[in-house]
Amino acid sequence: MRWTKMMINTLREDPGDAEIDSHKLLVRAGLVKKLAGGLYTFLPLGLRSLHKVERIVREEMDATGAQEILMPILQPAELWRQTGRWDTMGANMFRLTDRADHQMAMGPTAEEEVTDLMAGIVSSYRQLPVTVYQIQTKFRDETRPRFGLMRSKEFIMKDAYSFDVDAEAADKTYWTMYHAYERIFARCGLKATPVQADGGDMGDSMTHEFHALADAGEDGIAFCEGCGYAANLEKAQCRVDAAAGAPCPPAEEIHTPGAKTIAQVSSFMGVPGDAFVKSLVYVADGTPVMVCVPGDRDVNEVKVRRHLGAKTVALADYDTVLAATGANAGSVGPVRPADAKLRIVADQSLKGATGRIVGANRDDYHLKNVDLARDAVIADADYADLVTVREGDLCAQCGRPMTIRRGIEVGQVFKLGTKYTDAFKAVYKNDQLQERVMVMGCYGVGVTRTLQAVIEQSHDKDGIIWPASVAPFQVVIDLLDPEDEAVAGIAFDLEARLEAQGIDAVVDDRLERPGVKFKDADLIGFPVRVVVGAKGLAKGGVEVKGRAQPKEAMRLVAPDAAADAIRELLCA
Ligand code: ATP
Ligand code: MG
Repeated sequence: MRWTKMMINTLREDPGDAEIDSHKLLVRAGLVKKLAGGLYTFLPLGLRSLHKVERIVREEMDATGAQEILMPILQPAELWRQTGRWDTMGANMFRLTDRADHQMAMGPTAEEEVTDLMAGIVSSYRQLPVTVYQIQTKFRDETRPRFGLMRSKEFIMKDAYSFDVDAEAADKTYWTMYHAYERIFARCGLKATPVQADGGDMGDSMTHEFHALADAGEDGIAFCEGCGYAANLEKAQCRVDAAAGAPCPPAEEIHTPGAKTIAQVSSFMGVPGDAFVKSLVYVADGTPVMVCVPGDRDVNEVKVRRHLGAKTVALADYDTVLAATGANAGSVGPVRPADAKLRIVADQSLKGATGRIVGANRDDYHLKNVDLARDAVIADADYADLVTVREGDLCAQCGRPMTIRRGIEVGQVFKLGTKYTDAFKAVYKNDQLQERVMVMGCYGVGVTRTLQAVIEQSHDKDGIIWPASVAPFQVVIDLLDPEDEAVAGIAFDLEARLEAQGIDAVVDDRLERPGVKFKDADLIGFPVRVVVGAKGLAKGGVEVKGRAQPKEAMRLVAPDAAADAIRELLCA
């Protein structure tokens, strides 16, 4: 391919809205162009890489025996009503009405659609197991679309769905997919780690997210080097020692004027944050609940929701807090709230806590010397794991200190059980002709997010460093004297030879200074650069260098030997 025949549009300046390196580089290297917030056009170079990622995903899915299908993006509301998700998906789902007044969704995912499909196709155990997948555009009206392709409103997902005769068979399929995901990300040149995650709507089902570790990642992940435990912070648990407090004198009210936050009260009283109990009022499915955690810890809302068995949990508004406790948010606590029936749940580490300081449920007052068991009404069963794990917390499995790192969720595998197949009566007849419900799994790869995650993990100050498997072109041939026929002939010969060996190359045949060509080559990040110029040829050859290699690694090789040298670098 000739550079001058391609629409390659590199930019000197970072886009104004880009916060992370991979977003800047995607745009500056001319891989994508922004249409509007969360919407991007793939330009020719970007599309080449996207197709390579898709091909890897397809090959690995096909290798598991999964079969590719393509379902409509527009999905009738009735499908979503059948599982109740028309109401629970909320504002994240793009909805529209057709001219006949039928409500529809622009698919954010496709569990309903695929279960309806399979309920109509599968009737016998002989047709099972079966896994179908598609590579298709998904739509989500994200609260904060940002970071380019990482969190966009429209993105490409590979979504696969498996149907098995029972839970045991579904478990086998789950691990087949898990291992296929390991291969997919490895082949894309991505270091992705599987981590345990919360089952969300699906309850306690088993699920793993695959995370590309990167400082720019939106998710926190707890790791234990000791035993290999890895879990998303929404889910991660740690070992806690019981508070085992000594008996303390009766609780006593203290005036804390103007001190609202734990930090303010703690500096007002000159005591550390962990002497406090942090109390927050939430509304869970319409009912207020007080959540108590140690003063220096954060409430984990996912764990609270799971403990309460609630669909939604959100911080209460001013009026609700006042009605429930008798005070403003800065002065609330678990001892005698205004609403004597207010349910109080507390982190397990507070069980047996004494001598603590809590809000007095009276504005500008706190209580000291609080013994939770003596002074508050908290059911035994309402002491639960409710905090977010932090650096240094002890691993729940082996007791060693954990570290927290950032990750980009590039994929997720999920055991769904019969949630959807029950709703759609997706049944089959077993060999006794008895009706049984199929057991499902679902498996997503963020294809466009994966592409950007590769860049986030692999770049330097000059630009992208593409792994050979997903680079737009594996080789750039910088032709320094395009008007010199003999020199140009050598460059195009080399290109043809590479193409014949299945290596894609672009010849930079622009009438530009070498500096401009080298800068663009580094910015776009082709894995191998070859410089073909009259000067070099006079010295006996062409210059070959890997993008990741330092300048000194540049080798001068005879034109005839160039293809071999390039292949070596690509395989390294
Ligand atoms: P997130 O927690 O990041 O919002 P999710 O868990 O809601 O993602 P899934 O429903 O698991 O996403 O979708 C499968 C995959 O699709 C994700 O692992 C992710 O790689 C990708 N993905 C999800 N939302 C987006 C988005 N807005 N833009 C780009 N990719 C996305
Ligand atoms: Mg997910």
